[in-house]
Amino acid sequence: MTDTMTAEQRHRCMSHIRSKGTKPELKVRRWLWSNGYRYRLNVKSVPGKPDIVMRPYRTAIFVNGCFWHGHEGCCKIPQTNRDFWQAKIRRNRERDAANYRILRENGWQVIVIWECQLTAEHLETTMREVEMLLNSNLLSIYKRHTTLPYPTDEPEALPMAAEE
Ligand SMILES: [Zn+2]
Repeated sequence: MTDTMTAEQRHRCMSHIRSKGTKPELKVRRWLWSNGYRYRLNVKSVPGKPDIVMRPYRTAIFVNGCFWHGHEGCCKIPQTNRDFWQAKIRRNRERDAANYRILRENGWQVIVIWECQLTAEHLETTMREVEMLLNSNLLSIYKRHTTLPYPTDEPEALPMAAEE
């Protein structure tokens, strides 16, 4: 996931003006679904109303539009009404940060996916990274609940195969 921005990305940052093509959140949902992941949408009982909730993974996923949520170094703020946009985006970012904090304090893992990471070119890589995060979240839940020794924690505690 890179923070350098192409002209194409810069263009898409203005998608708050006219939305075209598949909504970013839908791209994520489709990928998850077709790769066998199940989820819930906009669960109101979970703080911050994440876009996608994966309860078994104790994970909340937010799919953020780069412009509205102020993706750092990604979108340019329009010159016209600059103060207005700056204040608005700052408020959105503060609200996002507060939501993520509440979730984490309640034992949720938070995954933020940016719109610019979901272009045809980047989608697969992004979602494979998301998949790794999901699995690592699942593993940390498993580690908390299992009474079995967890192999990578104490490899020396594992019985060694007898030498021939
Ligand atoms: Zn972005």
